[in-house]
Amino acid sequence: MTTINKSGWRPEIGERSADSVATFTGNRALMLEEPLLFEIGRIDSTGVDLPDTVIDDNRLGGLMRAAPVDLPGLSEPETVRHYTRLSRQNYAIDLGLFPLGSCTMKHNPRLNEKMARLPGFADLHPLQPVQTTQGALAVIHELAEWLKTLTGMAAVAMSPKAGAHGELCGLLAIRAAHDAAGSERSVILVPESAHGTNPATAAFCGYKVENIPATAEGRVDLAALMTRLGPDVAGVMITNPNTCGLFERDMKKISDAVHNAGGYVYCDGANFNAIVGRVRPGDLGIDAMHINLHKTFSTPHGGGGPGSGPVVLSAALAPFAPLPFVEKQGDHFVLIEEETAEDHHAETFGRMVAFHGQMGMFTRALTYILSHGADGLRQVAEDAVLNANYVLRSLDDVLVAPFGASGPCMHEALFSDDGFADGFSTIDLAKGLIDEGYHPMTVYFPLVVHGAMLMEPTETESKAALDQYIGAVRSLAERARAGDPALKAAPIFAPRRRLDETLAARKPVLNWQAPVDAMAAE
Ligand SMILES: *Cc1c(COP(=O)(O)O)cnc(C)c1O
Repeated sequence: MTTINKSGWRPEIGERSADSVATFTGNRALMLEEPLLFEIGRIDSTGVDLPDTVIDDNRLGGLMRAAPVDLPGLSEPETVRHYTRLSRQNYAIDLGLFPLGSCTMKHNPRLNEKMARLPGFADLHPLQPVQTTQGALAVIHELAEWLKTLTGMAAVAMSPKAGAHGELCGLLAIRAAHDAAGSERSVILVPESAHGTNPATAAFCGYKVENIPATAEGRVDLAALMTRLGPDVAGVMITNPNTCGLFERDMKKISDAVHNAGGYVYCDGANFNAIVGRVRPGDLGIDAMHINLHKTFSTPHGGGGPGSGPVVLSAALAPFAPLPFVEKQGDHFVLIEEETAEDHHAETFGRMVAFHGQMGMFTRALTYILSHGADGLRQVAEDAVLNANYVLRSLDDVLVAPFGASGPCMHEALFSDDGFADGFSTIDLAKGLIDEGYHPMTVYFPLVVHGAMLMEPTETESKAALDQYIGAVRSLAERARAGDPALKAAPIFAPRRRLDETLAARKPVLNWQAPVDAMAAE
């Protein structure tokens, strides 16, 4: 149980040297330690003045609350400071380079924000009559057309709300297609180089997941895949570009083989940033692919924030797409809300969400697309790949790049912790990066590489920003190779020191309990 000393600060949040008499406050430089609302709020305090009200219990059907809810209150300035202080303990793309591999943490242009805040979009209600939301439906429709054009696919389901939700949508469509054909297939093949959400989605859909090994150069083992195909295989899920940061060059051969064996090809398109404008997944024989608007098309994300994962579908899977659908009829937009026997939505697998999707993300993504145009989007992919290769080649003398010999990488650079001093691993370099002012890269993923460090700089970083980041990683890599004991203590300057990650994952403490007053307990 947590104890508090007389001043109210929790001593365990920071260190205090043995010969110091000062009570440790947790404050650092200009950063104040911030307790929880429950610790600083007062039941009798509030930030708003409300008139006294007389509530008639009759009107509430006898359900009037008998006792106060006991939520702690703060004054307005205390509230503002609480959240501002918390926000300063966070890291954000607006603060600095965010090298989190596979996540495409790129700059969110402010123009997107301006458009999303237009009252005609921001103040909509999803239950408004469609004749009053024609502009919003036009945005959804135009974005859908762009996504189909960029991917070369027949249809797109706009409603999935994130990448993983899109995977679910794609697999539900694949299952519906097999069901409609009366074919019972129980296995989804997932290469080792796939993103972790892929096997999770397949298992969630009730499929058996079988792994396909990766080759020594980090790509799908085509021969192993071909051998495994058969009448029990419903499809494959392939991340392309894969989580080793490499393009799956055999994609068309893989698709043809899967189709010949009666299966469908799901492609995890979260890494579309590396190929947008350069490659059309439809040309590679893909049947379903989600696009993370919150990655490739620059809508803000992180911390569980709003995502959007439209799924493009091949002609074979289009009839099974989920509802609702925005359709253009003449110069009007309509919302197809339920299946009608005579039209092409008769075979829909149903509905995934209550409404059409993430309107704010649609507006931002379309703004991004229109402000770049087709040529600009192609440049996005080229610059993202260029930046990643700059990181790869600037660090491959101090960090081991396991697939460095496989040629240029796509949008992310992958390293292992080979060559670190005994007892030093990726976690030490990652924690050291926090002291250097950076959010760590993706660590220990993909699993095929020992102590993996996956760095995705994105195209929105300048060469100067990349050089600064590379300098920080170089110095940390040298310290890890030399076995600098101080690196084991990192982070030293963060609001929290190194936590026990195993304990945090295995025994998470998810509810707050009132601390025992150490003085009173004595
Ligand atoms: C981010 C990501 C996902 C999951 O997307 P969410 O929007 O976080 O659900 C899936 N696959 C890959 C390769 C990703 O990078």
